[in-house]
Amino acid sequence: MSAEYRVVIIGGGVGGMELAVGLGKQRNGSLPITTTLIDRSALHYWKPMLHEFAAGTVTERKDCIDFARESARHNFNFVEGTFSGVDRTAKTVTITAQNGSTQTLNYDALVVAIGSRANDFGIAGVLDNCAFIDSLTDANEFDNRFRDQFAVAHAEGREMRLGIVGGGATGVQLAAELCQAIDDAPGLGKEARQKTLRATLIETGPRILPAFPLRVSEEARAELEKLGITVLTEAMVVGVDETGFALKDGSRVDAPIKVWAAGVRATDATELFTGLERGRGGQLTVDRSLRTLEDESVFAIGDCSRISEAPLPATAQVARQEGLYLAKIIPELAAGKTISQFQFKDRGSVVSLGDYNGWGMLPGANNTPKAFGGGPLRGLGARIIHDTLYRQHQANVGGLGHGLSGWWNAIMSQIFGKRSPRA
Ligand SMILES: Cc1cc2nc3c(=O)[nH]c(=O)nc-3n(C[C@H](O)[C@H](O)[C@H](O)COP(=O)(O)OP(=O)(O)OC[C@H]3O[C@@H](n4cnc5c(N)ncnc54)[C@H](O)[C@@H]3O)c2cc1C
Repeated sequence: MSAEYRVVIIGGGVGGMELAVGLGKQRNGSLPITTTLIDRSALHYWKPMLHEFAAGTVTERKDCIDFARESARHNFNFVEGTFSGVDRTAKTVTITAQNGSTQTLNYDALVVAIGSRANDFGIAGVLDNCAFIDSLTDANEFDNRFRDQFAVAHAEGREMRLGIVGGGATGVQLAAELCQAIDDAPGLGKEARQKTLRATLIETGPRILPAFPLRVSEEARAELEKLGITVLTEAMVVGVDETGFALKDGSRVDAPIKVWAAGVRATDATELFTGLERGRGGQLTVDRSLRTLEDESVFAIGDCSRISEAPLPATAQVARQEGLYLAKIIPELAAGKTISQFQFKDRGSVVSLGDYNGWGMLPGANNTPKAFGGGPLRGLGARIIHDTLYRQHQANVGGLGHGLSGWWNAIMSQIFGKRSPRA
């Protein structure tokens, strides 16, 4: 081992960024730790907000953090590039920059935090015909396309058909956020939306938001229908082409604009870890210390990982807690100490339909979650809580002032008025 303990983190999303910042804060411990964070993007963003980027209701300028700037502030190195290879015997990883040049880095501990993508389940035509909202680039591309096509359809006085597959939090929140974007856009508004947008949300299961209590599913469905969105449940997509979706019962949903927001599988780059166990969704299997089963120098956190004994859902809450845990135990491991195991603390979940409504659930006794939100306050509390996890992360990563001012602005805009979408 070199005089310093070298930690390389691949992926600076929710889990990876918490870890890099956490380790950076401890750089001057007894065994100096050098942390290097690799990401294919130059900007850090909070993935649970991607549907808002996709609708243009938030923008990069306010809600992204520049990795290069934060790395200097938090004592870690940043390398922009795509993870393209690993040699576990030599303990090196290879990174390919946008211009095709490659770089090799040595590690003592390697943490894989490369997240996930929606799962096309091998259904014909999905990859070629649907938009995905899996990265900032995807979200920005969709935002531009949606706005352009809506503006043209509206100007020509014709309807614009949109189909979203996946009735989980991503699909449901995206559907509402796109309505919000039109309602708030200068020169458009609610009437323009009602006249032009024909949106359908397609879900295979018997209800939308299956991870939430039944009351939340039913109220969220009613809210979406109030917005004019057609919600289809028990509707299985079996094929996609340029004009729309073919369903298993033989019917079709016509939608020139299509979004695939169903299922979760690990980012494809986990395949580069030959010899390590991966689950059905491609996630690297880890133990309760978040180490891969076959290689004690390789850890995996967040959506690209799966704890073998007790799998957890692919959520920001899990990824964040895992990043914070490794920031604590990696220095202990480097110092040869015995480490404690990761314990997840469920703080509940929230789903937010733009400024229209929001609900949450808190863990209850006997594994029966308690629902809250909706009602006359239009889920204001739930929407504020939805923002809280992000602001905590923002305060940790970008500084307390950044987090608090962002939170204050968000609360004020929730209470007093509309957000400022891009024109
Ligand atoms: C629209 C949407 C809404 C969501 N809403 C919620 C919510 O309300 N609450 C909630 O808890 N969760 C929500 N989620 C899920 C949540 O975003 C994820 O569970 C969380 O982001 C996982 O964190 P992570 O650190 O594992 O991965 P991510 O945050 O996705 O970070 C992965 C990072 O790896 C980088 N990367 C990927 N591949 C490579 C590569 N080959 N080389 C280099 N870098 C790479 C990416 O650029 C990214 O920065 C939502 C997800 C989506 C898409």
